[in-house]
This record gives sequence, structure tokens and C-alpha cells, in this order.
Amino acid sequence: FNVPIAVNEPVRAYEPGCEHREAISKAYQEMYSSVLDVPMYINGKDVKTGDTKPMSPPHDHQHVVGHYHLAKKSHVEEAISTALEARESWANTPWEHRAGIFLKAAELIAGPYRARINAATMMAQSKTIHQAEIDAACELIDFLRFNVQYMTDMYHEQPESTSGAWNRLEYRPLEGFTYAVSPFNFTAIAGNLPSCMALMGNVVVWKPSDSQVYSAKVIMDVFEEAGVPAGVINVVFGDPKMITDTVLSSPDFSGLHFTGSTYIFKELWKQIGNNIHNYKTYPKIVGETGGKDFIVAHKTANPIQVATAISRGAFEFQGQKCSAASRAYISKSIWSEVKAQVIEDVKSFKMGSPADMENFITAVIHEASFDKLAKYIDQAKKDKKAEIIVGGNYDKSKGYFIEPTVIVTEDPKYTTMCDELFGPVITIYVFEDKDYSKTLKLVDETSEYALTGAILAQDRYAIVEATKALQNCAGNFYINDKPTGAVVGQQPFGGARSSGTNDKAGSILNLQRWVSPRMIKETF
Ligand code: GLU
Repeated sequence: FNVPIAVNEPVRAYEPGCEHREAISKAYQEMYSSVLDVPMYINGKDVKTGDTKPMSPPHDHQHVVGHYHLAKKSHVEEAISTALEARESWANTPWEHRAGIFLKAAELIAGPYRARINAATMMAQSKTIHQAEIDAACELIDFLRFNVQYMTDMYHEQPESTSGAWNRLEYRPLEGFTYAVSPFNFTAIAGNLPSCMALMGNVVVWKPSDSQVYSAKVIMDVFEEAGVPAGVINVVFGDPKMITDTVLSSPDFSGLHFTGSTYIFKELWKQIGNNIHNYKTYPKIVGETGGKDFIVAHKTANPIQVATAISRGAFEFQGQKCSAASRAYISKSIWSEVKAQVIEDVKSFKMGSPADMENFITAVIHEASFDKLAKYIDQAKKDKKAEIIVGGNYDKSKGYFIEPTVIVTEDPKYTTMCDELFGPVITIYVFEDKDYSKTLKLVDETSEYALTGAILAQDRYAIVEATKALQNCAGNFYINDKPTGAVVGQQPFGGARSSGTNDKAGSILNLQRWVSPRMIKETF
């Protein structure tokens, strides 16, 4: 099992004037000034149906940059049958060849595709150049490299044998086909969901988010060039209900790899349950869903560090990471310093198109998200229990721009302390220093989700207490840091409660879900 040792792809700084920055600008401008026709990809072929939807950047929603073709039921059926045909040879392809294909994909992104995949992510999902780089380039490369290493680590795990009896575990892929449903917010996750299942020998029907089609197309081009055989990963776009109904009603469906909303995931789970008698095998279900991620600051925390955790943890990528901080509990004696610094930070953030690389905040993903956020902000403006201390303005005339907004409330159960908003809004509750233990209990009790959370404190006993009290409400727990930015190979990512099945993306735990091992005992 000799494979290259996986290393994290270094993050490029893209200093003004440097050639890599120029390359991204050029790729972005080319994409922006043309109209791309995006076919589906079934059985290794582009499929155009003529039934299309337009694509527009969220920061410039009247500007059309392309169209994508939508599936009819027959296309989804074809994607399934084609995957099942491809399985025959893919499941029996030696692991080295599968590994080689995805290592090649990683190097294509690290090199020739880097500018294109970053520019596509800036345009389609309104990421700043830095947020695109850490996602579409580095994190996706890391997923591809580390998964190869984890696959071989897994294959190393073998039972004991005795002389006369040789025991070996054969890590077969799932029988049937798998289904990947990916979100808009990370190009890396979109690439990882289908590719990690395919790496383990599975065949896949992949439905990317409607808001991420542009960068999904680049991912598929990379996979094709890297040598993923026809039929192994099939991409379909269109009506999510029709696609899902068709996929989940197939007796050969054997695994769901999902990242998206809690509500949809629970609906899919129900649907799988209702179909359970029709399946040839029990399907595996892996999902990463919502979050209502917290920051708790003890009175001994460094106020500047707390402010940074808030302003970066809540507002990078407009708060649209599942891991984004969206509620904070701050000890009273440090609050005035934290508050002043947060206001200063937020006021320094420039907002606008990601094409201007000085901008730190760009648009939220679509109108529905914009309208939902605007409604919560308007409500906070009216409510006596809430005060907006910075931000609170919004404008959708050109793009879906919401100012980074900080709400302070005296009610720890105020709506914006509890509801998942998925945008650049954080709500802060200030507690009496003496109420630290009580506050930790409150955080746990109000955590419907359990994805990420952070404790900031200098006092070791306060850290220990929080680590224990909050053990069930964050699958990724940070001490003296912001709660975002997990790195593949360093912090496997995922949470429980309404946040998902906690099968840590970027770890062996996740890959183990995509195998159906056969135990072979041979006696002599
Ligand atoms: N892994 C990302 C982070 O740690 C978040 C992934 C997500 O939003 O689903 O920030």
C-alpha cells in the first residue's frame, strides 16, 4: 500500500500584481463576459435536453453567465442504469488505478485548473478570492489526496491469521449505486461527496445544488480529464424532488451522501425508510446538515481574540458556512472591549463584488436567502429585546447584499439566538461573570444543532469545564479560536443532533461508510 504521503496544499496569498492573481482575474473576466452552456454528464457524455435554466452571479443577479440543462425522469433513469453497468468493471478495478485517477484530479486542480475552479467559485457562489482558494483549490485537493491515504490505511486493517487459516478482509464497494447531493456553499464538498464514494469503488449519481452548477461543471471536467471512466460519476441537474424520487425508488439504491439542509435530509431519510422493503440492501445514509454554531467567552478571555473569532467566524463567506458562528455568549466584564473591537472590525470590511479582490464581504447566495435574512433583521429592528449594534442594512438592487450585522439581546432564547439563519448575522448575549456555569448549561440546552462551537478563556479550569459541559453540542470544538475553517487531515469535520450523522468528512470514518467488506477465510 505504497501511496504518496498526503500533504495539505499550501494556500496562495494572491498578492496584488502577482501572476496567479492575474490568472484568476482573467479567468473570471472570461467567464463573466461569456455565456456557458452546461450539459449534464451521463455515461461519459454531455447531455443537453434543451430545457434550461439561466445562471447568474449572486452579486450581479441580472447578468446571465450561462444556462444549464435540466433532466427529465428518463435522464435520471439512464444515469442509474449507466452507473450500474459501469459498476461491473469499476468495482473490480484495482485500488491503485482508482487512487491514481483521484491523485491526478488533485494535481490538475493544484495546477492547470486552479484559476478556473477558483474563478468559477467566485462567480457562482460569490466567494472572495481567499475563500475560493481555501475551498475550491486547497480543501478539494486535500480531500482527494487524504482520501487516497485513508483508503490505504483502511485496507491495512486486517484480522489475525493462523498457520493453516488465512483471514482477509476484502473492502468491497456497496452493491448497487450511490447518490450524492451536494450544497452550494463549498466547491470542495461538492467534489468530495461523489469522489470519495467513487474512490472506494462505488458508482454515483450526483445532483449538485442549482446555485453551484458553474463550479460543478469544472469539477466534472477535472474528473473526466483525470480518467474517471464513463458511468462512474453521472451528473444530473433539475427538479430535486423528481430526481430524488427516481433515485430513491430504485431497488439498487445503496447509499446517500448528503450535505444540505436539515429539513431535506430528514425528508430523504423518511423516504428511504418508506422504501426500505424495495431495496436489495440496507442503504447507508450519511449527512451533514445545519448548524447554529456558538462562541462562549469567559471573563479571562483575550477580548481582541474574542472579537476576531466573532468577526471572522461569523462573517467570512457571508456567514454561509455550516460552521459559521451565529450566536455568542460573552462575559460582562470583557464585553465593552469586545464590542468596540467587533464594531471596528465590521466597519473595516469592504462589501461588493468578488471581482474586486479587496472586498471581504460579497452577496448571499440567492433571493430567498436574502429575503429571509432581511426579515429577521427588520424584526430585530422592531423588537425591544434586540439591538443592532453594527450593520442592519441590505440592498438587492444589483446583488443580494446584506451588511454584516451584529444583534445584541438580553433574551438568550431570542429567535436569532435559536433559528439557523445561514447568513452574515450574529446574535450576542452578555452574561454576568458569575453565571459562567449556568451559561454553559444554557448553551447545551438550546443547542438543537451540534456542529461547531468555540470556548475562549485563559483560565484552564474554565476551558476544562466548558469542554465537559459542551461535549454533546459541537462535533468540532475549538479552544481559543474561531469555530470555522477545519482543515482536511487535521480536523475531520462533522456534528450530531440536527447537524448530521457525524461521519467526519475528510477521515477514514467517512470512507468506512462506503464499503461493504467481505470476510474471506481460507484454510489449507
Ligand atoms: N468545513 C467547513 C469549516 O470548517 C464548513 C463546511 C460546511 O459549511 O459544510 O468551516
